[in-house]
Amino acid sequence: MEDCIFCKIISGEIPSELVYKDEQVVAFNDINPVAPVHILVVPRVHIPTLNDMEEEHKELLGHVAWVMKKLAREHNIHESGYRIVTNCGPDAGQVVFHLHFHLLGGRSFGYGRPADDS
Ligand code: AMP
Ligand code: ZN
Repeated sequence: MEDCIFCKIISGEIPSELVYKDEQVVAFNDINPVAPVHILVVPRVHIPTLNDMEEEHKELLGHVAWVMKKLAREHNIHESGYRIVTNCGPDAGQVVFHLHFHLLGGRSFGYGRPADDS
């Protein structure tokens, strides 16, 4: 995907603060963190949104959950707690159309108005 910023990060064309990589996913620090720990976990394959997930991706997204669990422990937020977010479409405010999961921790999160609850 030529114009996809996350594909460019995955290929190394654009630099990032990589925290994890394997054959299926990469994880890097969010450039605009909203919590002390703010990691993006990104499948290597270009899937624009969760709406575009196919049955063949079920195992991949299970792997994403496994990686997020491991990263939560590595970053010492597994006991204090953490939040996992994926934004899908306009009402969620999705900006980058390459499926990714935010792993957020190191502070507490409320359940205020959804649009403000980053
Ligand atoms: P969203 O699509 O709503 O999940 O938001 C995209 C997220 O990607 C935002 O939190 C951005 O700060 C983050 N982001 C955008 N560009 C980069 C980049 N080059 N490196 C790291 N994070 C990025
Ligand atoms: Zn992409």
